[in-house]
Amino acid sequence: MPDISEQDFVAEATAFLEANAKPKETEKKFVWGEGSDKVALFDERSRDAELRLLAEAQAWRAKRDDAGFGWITGPEELGGRGLPATYERLYNQLESGYDTPGGGFFTIGLGMVAPTILAHGTDVTKQRYLKKMYRGDIVGCQLFSEPGAGSDLAGLQMKAERDGDEWLLTGQKVWTSGAHYSDIGEVICRTDPDLPKHKGLTGFVVDMKAPGVEVRPLRQMTGGASFNEVFFSDVRVPDDHRLGDVNQGWTVALTTLMNERAAIGGGGGSGGAGTTQIAEMMRHFGVAQDAVLRDELMKLHSATTVARLTNKRALDKIKQGQLPGPELSTAKLALTNNQTLAANLIAAVLGPRITADTGEWGTFAWTQFLLGVPGMRVAGGTDEVMKNIVAERVLGLPKDPGIDSKTPFRELRTN
Ligand SMILES: Cc1cc2nc3c(=O)[nH]c(=O)nc-3n(C[C@H](O)[C@H](O)[C@H](O)COP(=O)(O)OP(=O)(O)OC[C@H]3O[C@@H](n4cnc5c(N)ncnc54)[C@H](O)[C@@H]3O)c2cc1C
Repeated sequence: MPDISEQDFVAEATAFLEANAKPKETEKKFVWGEGSDKVALFDERSRDAELRLLAEAQAWRAKRDDAGFGWITGPEELGGRGLPATYERLYNQLESGYDTPGGGFFTIGLGMVAPTILAHGTDVTKQRYLKKMYRGDIVGCQLFSEPGAGSDLAGLQMKAERDGDEWLLTGQKVWTSGAHYSDIGEVICRTDPDLPKHKGLTGFVVDMKAPGVEVRPLRQMTGGASFNEVFFSDVRVPDDHRLGDVNQGWTVALTTLMNERAAIGGGGGSGGAGTTQIAEMMRHFGVAQDAVLRDELMKLHSATTVARLTNKRALDKIKQGQLPGPELSTAKLALTNNQTLAANLIAAVLGPRITADTGEWGTFAWTQFLLGVPGMRVAGGTDEVMKNIVAERVLGLPKDPGIDSKTPFRELRTN
């Protein structure tokens, strides 16, 4: 039984937020040409701006932590508050009504890496990192993908070799979001190539500042550089930084991936491109009567409404302590489908206005959305992979033939 009622908790959280943050302005009616026209799916910021925003976001998490809202669900012996998940959702709901420093710096660390450390870490990693991660002192990243292993994550090649009480990590990771400002990373390595590919993997927590770790930013087509390639040359990791048992890294990776997919799809809707906004754009450019565009707008409106309500149904089930059904498996797919519908419609309305920046409000700014959608369709499981998951696990169709669960990994390699 929690030592504080939900009602008292809400009162305490409201008092904290009122004293430390400004309430968001109530939803203003969208008026064409007013306010910011920023619609980017991925933040494009200079390194200086990024570090400044990171410092603000860290200061906010520290303040939350001082007031008892840093790690609401965490076990008390690890520095958490030991309250049920419903309390955390209540807090998040309340905080979303206030302007607080954001920037997405903790999405991967707290949304994916920390829950994995809690589930599979040793006492050393739990004690050393978790509280500090929730306090904002330590930022985490996810080192899974490699040049030859993305969708087929179990085909990864970066190796970890045992050396007494330590492991030596050598190889390359790629697409590592936020590696350039992260302190630790969750890395999955191959520890036994003689086992089938899903069986010879092991997870570790790695210090991103350790000798032998080299982070190189990658420039993406939106102009920013939010992810990186990371090279490891004989990086020493103590055995007490292992996640789970040796060669059981696939289970560790799945814990992280489950959290990742729930986090990405959870919002539903069309992730930034509202139908009211697009309808105004159609009016502004005199195409509101175009039958084909109107049809597309209605398709988008129906699809985003269905996605939002489906996600709400899944969240309501979770709130009532039930397991969500197949809804969550379709959440990410619905999000990226809707973003694609929105991007195509916006491109049809704006035409050449999205190809060059003339300074006109609400036109060229949409390139950031359009160019970001393909990234969304790939990140955290591509559309095709998500369809395979729905086909196999929800609809019960035969398995994708790609999985070889018996042949030793070493024999699968062709190069
Ligand atoms: C914005 C963004 C952020 C990212 N951040 C991170 C991060 O922080 N850490 C990290 O480790 N990775 C990250 N990634 C990488 C991401 O996880 C991979 O890009 C993704 O898993 C796909 O892998 P891949 O790029 O190697 O493509 P591939 O797996 O090579 O896929 C190529 C194409 O083949 C299709 N395909 C592959 N397998 C199948 C199949 N079985 N059936 C049907 N079609 C298939 C895919 O759908 C795709 O169209 C990020 C990616 C993006 C876009």
